[in-house]
Amino acid sequence: MSIVLGIESSCDETAAALVTDGRVILAQRIASQDEAHRPYGGVVPEIAARAHAERIAPLIEATLADAGMTLDQVDAIAATAGPGLIGGVMVGLVTAKALAMATDKPLIAVNHLEGHALSPRLADASLEYPYLLLLVSGGHCQILLVEGVGRFRRIGTTIDDALGEAFDKSAKVLGLGYPGGPALERLALQGDARKVPLPRPLKGSEEPHFSFAGLKSAVLRAKQSGEYADADIAASFQQAAIDCLIDRTRRALAKAGPVNALVVAGGVAANKAIRGALETLAEAHSLPFIAPPLALCTDNAAMIAWAGVERFERGQSDPLDVAARPRWPLDPEAETVRGAGVKA
Ligand code: AMP
Ligand code: MG
Repeated sequence: MSIVLGIESSCDETAAALVTDGRVILAQRIASQDEAHRPYGGVVPEIAARAHAERIAPLIEATLADAGMTLDQVDAIAATAGPGLIGGVMVGLVTAKALAMATDKPLIAVNHLEGHALSPRLADASLEYPYLLLLVSGGHCQILLVEGVGRFRRIGTTIDDALGEAFDKSAKVLGLGYPGGPALERLALQGDARKVPLPRPLKGSEEPHFSFAGLKSAVLRAKQSGEYADADIAASFQQAAIDCLIDRTRRALAKAGPVNALVVAGGVAANKAIRGALETLAEAHSLPFIAPPLALCTDNAAMIAWAGVERFERGQSDPLDVAARPRWPLDPEAETVRGAGVKA
């Protein structure tokens, strides 16, 4: 049996986990920084980096203690090496390097997006490559054909905002606080999705890309008009987002060729209405729909440890001078899409 320690620090969660090649999560801990960033309505990189630096060492110690293990019993140390907020990524990666050097264990530099992309295989042993993955989180919004470890074809991406970002910004407009995605979903349950006319950006277009900036602006105009109830705006926004998501994913399924499953990962996968709509789409294509448990959907270290397991099993590791990367696309061949600024 092999055991990998995983470390995650690319955004606002400091996390550590111990995962076996038998898909057992021996222990995992997550320290969220939501409280620290709440007054600013978004993640402040400087605050995030400092919080990671303060928390990471005790968090790793506590995770090992939870499992009743010492570092000597670990076979490899995996850490997120990007993409993400560079200050935080460096804290996690440098910590992993120090532990790897001190214990003479292999270091595995994990792409955070690969962690999300492979996490469904941690939860479901029957999931075989290739599968179509919808990766929807606060910072990422992509449709990927997952062909194997390190083998990804990006089928679609956002040309502006990520879906989670659109949820969070719309929630902010409605005064729902930060991070507002879950609160917006709750408010939408009380509203009527037909009340507020909102755009469906890029719906029907040939390439399965996304755009949410216009939808977010339309939510702001609807709120400022004073004509609509907040719950109706929330419900209409969520429905518009779902319509875009389903249309784009249907297009991606047509482009990707044969796949074994439709898989969703990332924090937005917590949204029940979105899960339901994707499940219906998968059924219509006679595909299994797989969504990892919620704890594996948002940022966590078990997925980083699992990506480490998949790489370790294939004899892969990285040199101790491997660099932290603020941007690190899973598919380096994928073209830059018009409008794609900071989103990988
Ligand atoms: P992550 O970036 O993977 O850590 O996920 C966090 C993102 O997921 C944030 O943008 C949240 O607002 C979003 N999110 C979490 N739960 C929900 C939900 N129920 N509905 C919509 N968005 C959500
Ligand atoms: Mg997060």
